[in-house]
Formats: sequence, C-alpha cells, structure tokens
Amino acid sequence: MELLKEKILKEGTVGESGILKVDSFLNHQLDIQFLNEIGKEFKELFSDKKITKILTIEASGIAIASIAAQYFNVPVVFAKKTESKNLDKETYDSDVYSFTKGKTYKIKVSKKYIQANDKVLILDDFLANGYAALGLINIVEKAGGSVEGVGIVIEKGFQEGGKRLRESGVNLKSLVTIESLENNTIKFK
Ligand code: 5GP
Repeated sequence: MELLKEKILKEGTVGESGILKVDSFLNHQLDIQFLNEIGKEFKELFSDKKITKILTIEASGIAIASIAAQYFNVPVVFAKKTESKNLDKETYDSDVYSFTKGKTYKIKVSKKYIQANDKVLILDDFLANGYAALGLINIVEKAGGSVEGVGIVIEKGFQEGGKRLRESGVNLKSLVTIESLENNTIKFK
C-alpha cells in the first residue's frame, strides 16, 4: 500500500532493538482519516470472504479493527491482556510472548463472543514473531470457529512471524512489509 509506505517514511522512527515507532498515527495518536484508508484496504483484500467477526488484541489493534469493521459490517472482539473482574468467567485463553515487553502473558476472550459458527478475520497493527496472531488463531480454534484470514498493517519481514503463519496455511495479508530497519533506515520489501 503506497500511501502507507509514504506515511511510514514520513512519520516513522526506528527505536531500540528493531522496533518501528509509528506513534503519530497508529500506536499513540490515531490519524483517523488515514486509518480509514487502511480499513478500506482490508475490506478489499478480504472481499471474497464472508466474515462474521473481527478479532484483535488490546490495545493497539482496537483502532484499526474498529475502523475496518465499518466496511465489513460486523462486530469487533478484542482479546483482553489483563485480569479484570468485569470479564466473564467462561473464557478461551492462550499464552502469548510479547516481543516489545519481553514477557509472556495470557490473552482471554469470553466464550460468548466467539462461537463455532463464526468466520473470523484477525487484524493487528504489527506482525513480528507471530505470537499475538497465533494466540488469536488458537482462541478461534478453541471456540470451533474458522479463521478466514489474518490482516496486518505492518509486517516485519526480517522476523519469523510471516513465515510461521504462511507455512501453517494461514491466509495472511500485510499492507506493507519491512525488509530491514538496520542503521535506523526503513527499507520495504
Ligand atoms: P508478535 O506477536 O508478532 O511477535 O508481535 C506483534 C505485536 O508486538 C504487535 O501486536 C505489536 O503490538 C508489537 N510489536 C512488534 N513489533 C513492533 C514494532 O516494531 N513496533 C511496534 N509499535 N509494535 C510492535
């Protein structure tokens, strides 16, 4: 997606240990008009699929999932990362290792919101090693639903996630793929 590449080159910065920071439009401040273009692009990429639900993970996935959901006309469910008294007791859980935080945490989705007849599109902001996406896929499988696709805004092609997901047969589509962030320079594939 050319528009996204331009935006990343203009506003993105390279942080420590291979982190791309896009806080100005995706991860802290949200550029809604721009995210709207991302939402439309996801709709186009998955237009051949009958989606009944979009699944993402808090917090950064919620914005793009919500905007994309308007084009799919389906609800968004976000997996929770933190224990909360508000969360239903009956949940599907999965363990996810966080690349940015350096620790493993549990993600949870109430059994009410993903069911066996759901055809799920998983959306997230970044794909690095693929643990977040695999955790979400695991939750859909536990619920007996089907994963129709995984849509990623920025895939980091120099990490293993893309390979891992594609090799396991996941219908993965990324809007842009970063080839390298070496020497603080953003290079696309
Ligand atoms: P994975 O589970 O694929 O290893 O990592 C994906 C998650 O880690 C994403 O949900 C995202 O929040 C975070 N992440 C991984 N790499 C980056 C990065 O370079 N920049 C930002 N902003 N987040 C990242």
